[in-house]
Amino acid sequence: MFGKRYNKDMYRFSKNTIDGLVTWYRKNRRDLPWRKDRDPYGIWLSEIMLQQTRVEAVISYYERFRKQYPDIKSLAEAEEEVLLRLWEGLGYYSRVRNMKKCAQVLMEKYGGMLPCGKEELQKLPGIGSYTAGAISAIACGHPEAAIDGNVLRVLSRFFAIRDDIKDPKLRKQLEECITTFYQENGIQDPEYVSDLTQGLMELGALVCLPNGKPLCQECPFFLECRACNEELTDVIPFRSRNRDRKIIDRTLLVIRCQDRFLLHKRPFGGLLGGMYEFIGIERKMDEKEICVCLKDMGIEVFRPEALPSSRHVFSHLEWQMQAYEIQTDQLPDFNQDEYILADREQLQSLAVPSALRVYLDYYGLRKRGGKK
Ligand code: SF4
Repeated sequence: MFGKRYNKDMYRFSKNTIDGLVTWYRKNRRDLPWRKDRDPYGIWLSEIMLQQTRVEAVISYYERFRKQYPDIKSLAEAEEEVLLRLWEGLGYYSRVRNMKKCAQVLMEKYGGMLPCGKEELQKLPGIGSYTAGAISAIACGHPEAAIDGNVLRVLSRFFAIRDDIKDPKLRKQLEECITTFYQENGIQDPEYVSDLTQGLMELGALVCLPNGKPLCQECPFFLECRACNEELTDVIPFRSRNRDRKIIDRTLLVIRCQDRFLLHKRPFGGLLGGMYEFIGIERKMDEKEICVCLKDMGIEVFRPEALPSSRHVFSHLEWQMQAYEIQTDQLPDFNQDEYILADREQLQSLAVPSALRVYLDYYGLRKRGGKK
């Protein structure tokens, strides 16, 4: 399927093939907390958490979050600090902020419920085409497509598509493949739609694996899958190289006053906005420069002590960090809206980015999951 002009007959499923997938899913599905029922709030939350994170890692986050915010109303009223704290470690914090915004819109305009239509869902904050499709198809059983990375891989292999799976056109074509299947086969049964949608995702997670050999012998598509039959699973899916990430050098100042730590609140609106971190300067600094910088802040230090260096990779940039510990007995007055001198207890309830985990662990400052 390389270089051919697209027409929708290229990607077509027979009813038998999809029946086989649905049967396979009903037998092999994992027992996950958001699959206990088809509650739209649970499906929404799990789909947002699962972006960029493995299922195994998401389960405990999901359970903690549901305990704290059992419904859309409680999420709409959530305190920002607690929300970020519960999300700590999952990264991409704008996702949870958007969830809160969306919950507020749902309270104002939809009586605290998620709508079922894909188009309507897509108009809400933080809900894109994939998440809208997943909520609509899985929770409500509407015949809509939800194509995530797992599904893209399965379908590219099934049809032996060699186009770049990052190309949005391909995603659109595969969405059309699924909706055409529903139309042509007159599918109305919400349970069938829900299981088909989750079946494709589950197949990608358990059988049509991303790294290493897919387990084709265990796959309900085994007899018809073109990549498997033509031994193309090593080259499909094709993914073009990522743009190089921007590297940012950071110097972190871990300022300690007895057993308390000075933390700075990152400005809202930017990366990790509203979260607390050690004072960070976006360049490499030597010890002499650090002493001058501290003097400007009103802190006299003879010599900062170098801590281990570390790095943290975001999707679009990488922080390369060198931290220094600064011990002081007295701190000058600081702006309490921007800074906090936190003891170990307080630190448990502050939202601190996982990018700093190396240093939190270094000082034994965090129990995973924290108090809230
Ligand atoms: S047969 Fe193999 S390559 Fe094809 S969809 Fe199944 S697991 Fe993936």
